[in-house]
Amino acid sequence: MPNVIEIVKLTAKNNCKQCGFPTCMAFAVSVSAGNCAISLCPYIKIPQAVSVVSPVDSDSLLLRELKARARAADIASLAEGLGANLVVYQGRPALRFCYLGSDITLSADFIGYETGLELDPRDQILLYNYLFFAGSGPLSGNWIGLESLPNSISKVSTLRRYAEGRIASFFAGKKEQLKAACLSINAMPFPDCHADLCMVVPVLPKVPMLLYFWDEDRDEGFESRVKIVFDARVMDFLDIESIVFAAERMVEKLEEIYL
Ligand code: SF4
Repeated sequence: MPNVIEIVKLTAKNNCKQCGFPTCMAFAVSVSAGNCAISLCPYIKIPQAVSVVSPVDSDSLLLRELKARARAADIASLAEGLGANLVVYQGRPALRFCYLGSDITLSADFIGYETGLELDPRDQILLYNYLFFAGSGPLSGNWIGLESLPNSISKVSTLRRYAEGRIASFFAGKKEQLKAACLSINAMPFPDCHADLCMVVPVLPKVPMLLYFWDEDRDEGFESRVKIVFDARVMDFLDIESIVFAAERMVEKLEEIYL
């Protein structure tokens, strides 16, 4: 697995977006995960220079880099825009907000629960991305599919396979159990529902996801189906990679709750 930091170093580090990603870091994370080709960045001339390290090493290197960036960020000024409360944690300004139904504290040195337990490194990377996007303002209230977002072609199938398809088969014939799992992470029923179940899951304060669930009908030979849609302003708060990853984490969380 390529080392994220080394990939970033090979880019022009100017966030020019020619690769289709909003930042060099988002591009490097995608390459590292094997989701896009390193050749998408026209500035990288020596891909063979990218070394091979384990995903765990890659995550911790990236986290170290992100924490250094967070130390230089004005966290206090970002709280309101991100829908978070400003608190003090271990003498430093920190954000407190709900992530998949749990209260999380985010500071430059720590992302975790009130108990002091740190989040999974992959979740920490996601939440630092949320911080650095520095989004603000109200959501649009309009819901759109991932395919309507720019540069999303390669990610639509990932979302379908690892989030929509997975949750559809896991909860086939279990509509009420899916509803209960959604409610336990503060989801709300969506009023204008044209499926068997429609729930708005507040994955992050400014990143809700609307989950449509059509249950299976064995008599008619229909398999269960899920469609996940996003607020039209979602890319003001996360990049496309992080959006898909957040959807995958939502699905894993709902499965965990049911089990
Ligand atoms: S093409 Fe992408 S990775 Fe390369 S410098 Fe521009 S934003 Fe960074």
